[in-house]
Amino acid sequence: MELENRIKELGKRLRGIPFRREARYTVSYGFDATGRRGRCDAVVFPQSLEDLRRTVMEARRTSVPLFMRGAGTGFSGGSVPAGGIVVSTENMNRVLGLDIGARTVTVESGIVNNDLQEYLVEYGLFYPPDPASFRVSTIGGNIAENAGGPRAYKYGVTRRYVKSMVWIDAEGEVIESEPRGPTALLIGAEGTLGAIYSATMRVLPRPEAFRTVLVAAGEDGEAMHTASALLATGFTPSVLEFIDSKTMRCVSEYRELSGTIEGSSYLFFEMDGSVEDVEMQYGMLSSFCGKRGLTMLTARDDDERDILWELRRSVSPSLARKGITKVNEDVSLPLGRLGEAVSWIHDVASELELDCYIFGHCGDGNLHVNIMTDRRRSAEMERAMVFVERLFTHVAGMGGTLSGEHGIGITKKEFLGMVYSPAELELQYRIMRAMDPDNIFNPGKYFDREEQRDVH
Ligand SMILES: Cc1cc2nc3c(=O)[nH]c(=O)nc-3n(C[C@H](O)[C@H](O)[C@H](O)COP(=O)(O)OP(=O)(O)OC[C@H]3O[C@@H](n4cnc5c(N)ncnc54)[C@H](O)[C@@H]3O)c2cc1C
Repeated sequence: MELENRIKELGKRLRGIPFRREARYTVSYGFDATGRRGRCDAVVFPQSLEDLRRTVMEARRTSVPLFMRGAGTGFSGGSVPAGGIVVSTENMNRVLGLDIGARTVTVESGIVNNDLQEYLVEYGLFYPPDPASFRVSTIGGNIAENAGGPRAYKYGVTRRYVKSMVWIDAEGEVIESEPRGPTALLIGAEGTLGAIYSATMRVLPRPEAFRTVLVAAGEDGEAMHTASALLATGFTPSVLEFIDSKTMRCVSEYRELSGTIEGSSYLFFEMDGSVEDVEMQYGMLSSFCGKRGLTMLTARDDDERDILWELRRSVSPSLARKGITKVNEDVSLPLGRLGEAVSWIHDVASELELDCYIFGHCGDGNLHVNIMTDRRRSAEMERAMVFVERLFTHVAGMGGTLSGEHGIGITKKEFLGMVYSPAELELQYRIMRAMDPDNIFNPGKYFDREEQRDVH
């Protein structure tokens, strides 16, 4: 049966669950933050575990591919459909339970990270993973991408906080499990192995005190050596972020800041914990910066802390003014090699006459490399693609990974062979097919060789 007829049949079988085929849905849910757009035939809005189970089961029975979607903030095309239904989790956004003694919270997968954070405040708790998209992205999307964020240096990434999950497998079976066996594989699987309904996440007591500091760290490559030398003193911040000099200029223009040092890169630190710990860490930082003559800007209260965080969070919107197309990679390398990587990246970008900006969670080894361009300038786009290939080849040669947190999706799948052997890729493929034999979940993602289901 043609896909169109199968979709109609599926719509009938899912009676009672919002099933939208109007263009305002199929267009809006057809792309993610990469700006790539795919074919979306319908958008389904399950509101409960039973709705989600029925959706998966009937999609399989009618052979309709299914693309799970949280908020669509993904940077690798993970939720971009390729013919079939988009399953939006936005109506499954409730807190299902809080166990203060066990320090866990159970949420539906469509809850927005920030809504969870706000819910926890009154209990004196917090959920550490904080992707810069936290005001929009969902916990389901965060689990599926194993999201990191600025606090990952101290607190680690999403995987560490998943206590258990309720998810639907390709047979439409509900599985409730701790992250072991197949359930563990779902974390970071980019929606290719199952549909997550809910998760019980570990939470922590909110730290008593914070210190937030911006340090002018000199030339771009130099900042990383400074960071390494600082960490070698035993200094342990919760946040260690890098903003290169061009990106900082862009942020300064965007926020109309005065006082940032032209030509200097910046390191953004936060320390948290007990008052004594934080003051001890702050003392180490001040003494280090004092000895090296580095300029520090310290937030004196919560309002100033918010201002510094807003500055860090302005990086992405400020870059948006530099080009309508962002070629955005998030390679990962050991901290000790980031300095040489930053210099190499800028050299190659200028050789290819590309406008390049680098920032990222450097404490976690994660660099965001952005080429700001315009997809209508085809020669420049071709040079940007040459840049990406050279970047990945170089990073793979340095023992790094193609993605620190944004995933493989559709944007990086052709490069997987640079970091995995054929035998490793074959094994990954066989696991995927074992868990999803009919290729129902997110077909065409992660594997380049994936035969596209015959959708026409
Ligand atoms: C400005 C900006 C800043 C960002 N900063 C960071 C950052 O600091 N750290 C970081 O890690 N990422 C960051 N990202 C990337 C993105 O926000 C994360 O990957 C996020 O986890 C995606 O969540 P989402 O809800 O938007 O998921 P979507 O984009 O909707 O989906 C992402 C993937 O998850 C799958 N998925 C979603 N929900 C489910 C579910 N319930 N069950 C199974 N699979 C599911 C989808 O199929 C898809 O493959 C940023 C993005 C933007 C736009």
